[in-house]
Amino acid sequence: LLGDDGRLGLTIFEEVTALAQQHSAINLGQGFPDEDGPQEILDAARSAIASGANQYAPGQGLAVLRNAVAAHQSRFHGLEVDPQTEVIVTTGATEGIAASVLAFAGPGDEVLTFEPFYDSYGAVIGLSGATHTTAPLLAPDFQPDPATLEAAFSERTRIIVVNNPHNPTGSVFSRESLELIVRLAERYDALIVTDEVYEHLVFEAKHLPIATLPGARARTLSISSAGKTFSITGWKVGWLSGPADLVAQVRTVKTFLTYTSGTPFQGAVALGLGLPDDFFTTAAATLQKKRDLLGEGLRAAGFEVFTPKGTFFALADAAPLGLDDATDLARRLPALIGIAAIPVAAFCHDDGARRTRSMLRFAFCKKFDVIEEAAHRLAGLR
Ligand code: PMP
Ligand code: GLN
Repeated sequence: LLGDDGRLGLTIFEEVTALAQQHSAINLGQGFPDEDGPQEILDAARSAIASGANQYAPGQGLAVLRNAVAAHQSRFHGLEVDPQTEVIVTTGATEGIAASVLAFAGPGDEVLTFEPFYDSYGAVIGLSGATHTTAPLLAPDFQPDPATLEAAFSERTRIIVVNNPHNPTGSVFSRESLELIVRLAERYDALIVTDEVYEHLVFEAKHLPIATLPGARARTLSISSAGKTFSITGWKVGWLSGPADLVAQVRTVKTFLTYTSGTPFQGAVALGLGLPDDFFTTAAATLQKKRDLLGEGLRAAGFEVFTPKGTFFALADAAPLGLDDATDLARRLPALIGIAAIPVAAFCHDDGARRTRSMLRFAFCKKFDVIEEAAHRLAGLR
């Protein structure tokens, strides 16, 4: 099922979720919370539907959400953006990424990502006709390595896609790492497309949006979404901000991908973005406890665990258990112990897949009792 030629057009997340369902396994594969987000956000969508907000929203998104995005960028990041010309609403972060790559890269260009990389980056770079180049993030800290990052840039690099906090490694890029990315993007005149969907889910670290660094703003498109922050991954409401001339080009592509989406959800997400600070800090603190609980379980089961500084995910190396092929293990785990996880190789090209051959990604965005039960089951691996 997970083989290179057997993908049948499904994402790795869909494949693992199907396996989990088949074996009634605890699904620590696909990253979605098992509890819904704040009641007032859910209620706001319900009342928007009831009050007739059910037809097309404007192409750039409802003004109420664009204003809320601008206020959020200012409040949390000190970034001032014009909600009229520098913000668009997208169908999840996925569309923001796709429209940005399709707007600016094509045959003959290179688009650089770190490796491991979120699966949709590889797919959309392929669709654009550009060449996908990569720079590795290596254990244990998964920060960019200056020499290999520099070597990965070329005169043809049109875009560097940054994902910070990073899925699947859970790393949060340091200021030095981000400064290096900006310096290289300037030197090679590349755009920075930054996917910051986990911006509020950081632990013992501070998230620094790359657009806030000197020299970055004029060449950066910043992307985020409501799915992770508010535990509403099924709503697919995202947003993108950046300089007006770049945003206008992305909007043109977005118009012909989806035009617009999710009218009744947009106002509800605007309400979420305006929640008090306490909501955001409590969500991260709760998730940190879940991270720690799963980490203990994985360690007790014999894995080497790379404690993440952000995201929903922890990487664990199965090599200490004598298990070297995590892709094979991911295929067998649901039947073996009733747990599903994603092999890190699924986020890699060949070299990266070799480097991460024995690593699995586990999601900890689940209820405490579910994580406890998962830890109990994992102990059965020994
Ligand atoms: N980027 C990253 C790094 C992700 O982990 C995900 C998964 N939610 C997405 C983008 C997709 O976000 P959305 O569901 O808002 O399209
Ligand atoms: N972002 C989620 C993850 O990394 C999955 C989203 C999807 O299924 N495409 O697990």
